[in-house]
Amino acid sequence: MALLDEPIKGTPTIKNYINGEWVDSKGELFDVVNPVKNETIARVAMSTGEEFDAAVKAAHEAYPDWRRTPAVSRARYLHRFRELLEENFEELSRVQTQEHGKSIDESRGETRRGIENVEVACGIPTMMMGDTSEDIASGIDEYLIRVPLGVFGIIGPFNFPFMIPLWSAPYAVATGNTVVIKPSEQCPISQTKLGELVDEAGFPPGVWNIVHGEKKVVNAMLDNPGIVGITFVGSTPTARDVIYPRCGASGKRVIAQAGASNMIVIMPDANVKATVPALMTSFFGNAGQRCLAGQNLIVVGEANGFYDDFMEAVTTAARQIVVGNGLDESVQMGPVKDQQKKQRILGYIESGLREGATIKLDGRKANIVGEYPDACFLGPTILENVNPNMKIVNEEIFGPTMGVMRAKNLDEAIAICNKNPYHNADSIFTSSGKYARQFQYEINCGNIGINIGIAAPMAFYPFSGMSGSFYGILHTQGKEAVRFFTESKVCIHRWL
Ligand code: NAD
Repeated sequence: MALLDEPIKGTPTIKNYINGEWVDSKGELFDVVNPVKNETIARVAMSTGEEFDAAVKAAHEAYPDWRRTPAVSRARYLHRFRELLEENFEELSRVQTQEHGKSIDESRGETRRGIENVEVACGIPTMMMGDTSEDIASGIDEYLIRVPLGVFGIIGPFNFPFMIPLWSAPYAVATGNTVVIKPSEQCPISQTKLGELVDEAGFPPGVWNIVHGEKKVVNAMLDNPGIVGITFVGSTPTARDVIYPRCGASGKRVIAQAGASNMIVIMPDANVKATVPALMTSFFGNAGQRCLAGQNLIVVGEANGFYDDFMEAVTTAARQIVVGNGLDESVQMGPVKDQQKKQRILGYIESGLREGATIKLDGRKANIVGEYPDACFLGPTILENVNPNMKIVNEEIFGPTMGVMRAKNLDEAIAICNKNPYHNADSIFTSSGKYARQFQYEINCGNIGINIGIAAPMAFYPFSGMSGSFYGILHTQGKEAVRFFTESKVCIHRWL
């Protein structure tokens, strides 16, 4: 078992990046813990409101010149930034694994998805184009241009610490705005490494700022009248009870992408050979800590023969998943992020068993590659005899668990999915075009997979969502992000 080199060494204290300078915070320090060894690998400050306000001031001062910089020139900064991201691809990926715990392959996938957003934002000169109508009345033309708005706040979650701020920040700065990013305090290093490349790419000071912290910084962001809008990705309680209402009250634009409890429907005509591996990545990839992860499986049909054979194939594959240190290339699944999260997931497993579910595969007893006594590992866990009213269906578990339900037919399966308030991404596995069409048409969620287990939109599509998994109108990524970060100005011109 050869381990890749750990890039974070010597327990550094993570700094803020304000006005093109790396600055220490006066705030209290918080330990950044690697979940494999349960050891502190860095410390990050819970920045003060004044420090956040200093970043907003810098962003404001940078805004007029940056806004006047032509879109083609702004795109050149992003091209240079993209090159640097490629040059540092492997280190960026290893940092994610070290601070978060996910397998190195998953981190490389995250890095790739992040870079794709920078690539899409490089197309800003065409993405930002407006519309023109000639002769709306005799000798009068009308046209629409898209303009930036000012300073935006970007708040990230712990589960994709590198990629998720890149769903917003490249589009925000490409359109001529300036930003202050607040990464997750649990995984702040990925954004710091990214900030070093922002600095190297030569963005003017104040265009891209990073302030670390937690609630205090978020509150300062929500209260600061100089922030025109916020993109947030995180849990439903924070999105629903804090971000969305407070942005509404103060008139800030907002995108708030939230939690999930996703459903995967298996029709009896599914191609089992192709379906089983897709379910493994869907349910157990990133140790289940993914807003697009499968949480609930619904197997359709009353015949026990198909169900028994299918669940045997799923259980056999899940048992073979290699769990261990993500810096070991042979490992497929790392630990969950911390002990508290592990205990929360264990609590959900207990709750399912109390409510009548039965255990088919017990991840609490999984074999782990390597000796890590205090680690946050949990193996793939499969619970059967789950019903749609159980807590393990209706709340987000965010761990490597699969709850299995049965439905008589597709209508019943769709009804179960649509009853769930947090289905951010649902999938169907079937070889029937008719079933696939019905599912796509009737399912009420934003991301739909057909014979795909993780319906993750490419960077040029919106990262969609509905109901309890999303608050706002527009979404991050692609054209919708460009709309969010700009205002349309309509101009009527009589040619004299
Ligand atoms: P979280 O809500 O705990 O934290 C997200 C951010 O909000 C962090 O930066 C945190 O510091 C801040 N925060 C937390 N509590 C706060 C409070 N009370 N007031 C102000 N700020 C607060 O979420 P998390 O645990 O970091 O991330 C996991 C969640 O994110 C899961 O629910 C997951 O489903 C969701 N997620 C959603 C999407 C999506 O696109 N829908 C994508 C990824 C993750």
